[in-house]
Amino acid sequence: MTGVTTRSAEIMRRARELFPGGVNSPVRAFRGVEGEPFVVARGEGARIWDVDGREYIDYVLSWGPLVLGHAPPAVLEALDRTMRDGTSFGIPTELEVLLAEAVRDRMPHLEMLRFVSSGTEATMSAIRLARAATRRNAILKFDGCYHGHADSFLVRAGSGVATLGLPNSPGVPEQLASLTLTAPFNDLDAVREIVRVRGGELAAIILEPVVGNAGLILPDPGFLAGLRALADSCGALLVFDEVMTGFRVAPGGAVEAYGVTPDLTTLGKVIGGGLPVAAYGGRRELMSLVAPEGPVYQAGTLSGNPLAMAAGLATLNELTVELHDAMTNRTARLVRGLAEIAARRGVPMTVAHAGTMWGFFFRAEPVRSFADAKTSDVAHFRRFFHAALERGVYLAPSAFEAGFVSSAHGDDEIEQTLDRLDAALGAA
Ligand code: PMP
Repeated sequence: MTGVTTRSAEIMRRARELFPGGVNSPVRAFRGVEGEPFVVARGEGARIWDVDGREYIDYVLSWGPLVLGHAPPAVLEALDRTMRDGTSFGIPTELEVLLAEAVRDRMPHLEMLRFVSSGTEATMSAIRLARAATRRNAILKFDGCYHGHADSFLVRAGSGVATLGLPNSPGVPEQLASLTLTAPFNDLDAVREIVRVRGGELAAIILEPVVGNAGLILPDPGFLAGLRALADSCGALLVFDEVMTGFRVAPGGAVEAYGVTPDLTTLGKVIGGGLPVAAYGGRRELMSLVAPEGPVYQAGTLSGNPLAMAAGLATLNELTVELHDAMTNRTARLVRGLAEIAARRGVPMTVAHAGTMWGFFFRAEPVRSFADAKTSDVAHFRRFFHAALERGVYLAPSAFEAGFVSSAHGDDEIEQTLDRLDAALGAA
């Protein structure tokens, strides 16, 4: 569209005057793919339309929450019904209880939980609780895992931090960053050594049980069980950050998929069905330390907001085991198809999925760690991303992000996507 100013470009020009990089969250700026973001006008089902009227099949899905696709009738009806009774009270509502019960039905290890409004709040609060419960200060996280932008987590983080190549963030006090130890994902020996030397200082071992913020990286068999045993051996709490994996890798999340139970769990994204909800929870005796039952302070004006609760509840009610299985099968079809296309075209690529999360790297060998992910051909990814976008497939604008499938991605959408990605790979 050289020489023509699109509406997207015009809106982004105004946005750049107002917001750093023109955006309200860094990866939206397309820096990872060296391009100009489009501005979205609306979404329906598996598709979105930009302000210039171009249509895309969407595999970002608001970075994971939209497990039923865009504007699903069940969620819209729940929102409509709920908002007529008022949008916020700061007083208990039954909707909070209903959503919490729906979560606990699927994840019985969350005996008690607390709703918050973002994944960042959930992980930040879980770590505060772990530090209070163990009376220790250090935490262990894994290279390439992203747990939101609280100070303790901006050390060797994934997602936008990885995309922009920022190892650590200015503004995080050195004293605090030094309490965050890191190890490579899938490297039990490294964890064993850290536990041997500093296990007595560790409040928590926190991880994405399936990494989605360094591209998609699956845990090796035995890795999660090994971490469980090492955490127990030194008295640290094991925290699964399931903000992305919850209700995606299995209906009950990673505990159901991998049979390892953490002490604390954080949830987000799908739990709010596209509205701002997240949560942290776990064993009753731990959660009882949270105010007002216990001394660990954490609060929120909009926590448990009725509109957000209604959207989350409608989403979980729709997301049956049968639906999850059907979506997982379509996700498997998508990654198998992409692998076949790459093989036919002689392009080195490794693909994977966990339930309805999926990802690929331009690299022949499997990716087991962030170090592996960084050896993938990022320049090739950039060309492929733009070629796919031109053909109406919106992939995450970074080589270090997972993709998602929704219930609105039917067989037709998957086949259409594979046709378009085949052509895109030919052009990239
Ligand atoms: N944890 C994980 C695993 C995430 O993927 C994210 C966000 N992508 C967060 C925490 C932070 O959530 P939020 O952006 O809602 O603060």
